[in-house]
Amino acid sequence: MHHASGVPDDDSGTLFGLDALGPAPAPAERHSAFRTSAGARRLLPVRRIYAEPAAAASPRGQQIIARYPDAEVIPVDSHWRIPGLHGNEGNIDRWVRVKGETLVLGEKKTLTTRPNGRSADWIAPGPSNGCAMACAYCYVPRRKGYANPVTVFTNIDRIIGHLGRHVARLGPKPEPNQCDPTAWVYDIGENGDCSVDALICDNTADLVHAFRQWPTAKASFATKFVNPDLLDLDPRGRTRIRFSVMPPDESRLLDVRTSPVADRIAAAADFLDAGYEVHFNLSPVVVRPGWEDAWAELLRHLDDVLPARVKEQAASEVIMLTHNEELHEVNLGWHPRAEDVLWRPEIQQAKRSQNGARNVRYRNGVKGESVAALRALIDRHTPWLRVRYAF
Ligand code: SF4
Repeated sequence: MHHASGVPDDDSGTLFGLDALGPAPAPAERHSAFRTSAGARRLLPVRRIYAEPAAAASPRGQQIIARYPDAEVIPVDSHWRIPGLHGNEGNIDRWVRVKGETLVLGEKKTLTTRPNGRSADWIAPGPSNGCAMACAYCYVPRRKGYANPVTVFTNIDRIIGHLGRHVARLGPKPEPNQCDPTAWVYDIGENGDCSVDALICDNTADLVHAFRQWPTAKASFATKFVNPDLLDLDPRGRTRIRFSVMPPDESRLLDVRTSPVADRIAAAADFLDAGYEVHFNLSPVVVRPGWEDAWAELLRHLDDVLPARVKEQAASEVIMLTHNEELHEVNLGWHPRAEDVLWRPEIQQAKRSQNGARNVRYRNGVKGESVAALRALIDRHTPWLRVRYAF
């Protein structure tokens, strides 16, 4: 095993021999049963850990490295642009494999909380960037290229400190909005999936616990993965988990490596009973022949299987598919069947974006009609499901 810092283990067995520098002792890692299961290892059979030296030496970094004793640790100057790992070239066929076998450890340098107003009031600096799953429409890899495994930010205490100050500065929410009637909602998972992060380390647990102490705020994250370890975190109503759902046939084609949609729905009551608020993301909505029937069936399934207590507190976001020309080209290299449904130039139009990305979305008419059609299906089949916003 190689260590990122190049400093050999000392006799006491302390990684990196960094005692003299005095890193805070790592808090005991949570005992999380699912994390060590065969199912978790299938999703993340980690073989290589690229690590910034400071990240590797941090308590969180040491915990992660210790969890994958067979992984090779490779030092890198920066978690950005690791040659041979990020980017699109030469990795297309290995893209999916890279996501499971590789982790990156880095420190989040710039901590900013951005206003949002749709999914959440605020977008928090996330505990990770990248994802071990490989949804064909995912925009998360846009800045690192599509071969983008999970980068874990090991300076979680700084992230939480930043958030605590932001929450304190804001004070109570002055008036209700669609995000939440009373709490300021912070999305903590914009660039990854917090349920998968929780397989790797306690960053998600630390955030859930932090929000529990902030009565004016609430954490929120969307997920496509059912991680039963999250049921032990005792969020006391201060974390909203949003299970993303789409018709199962479509999900099998597009949501590569995720938990089956039926499992996400079946988990909702357990998460509610464990202290989470449980919402649903109806996303992305992909317009294709027969899509309305498929969504009607999915909504009927929600209505059939969800207990009343889940329905009473549920709300949803409806997000129409946006796609991207570069992603389209990448996908043609590894998953062309997905592009049959995602890339529909006859009903899509370019969408201006500040960063020069060539994004497309459904044409105005198609989009408006589709949102109206889905809203009508919701009224009919799941009238209890308030739509927080449709976009
Ligand atoms: S689960 Fe989310 S973050 Fe991960 S690949 Fe799918 S859409 Fe992207």
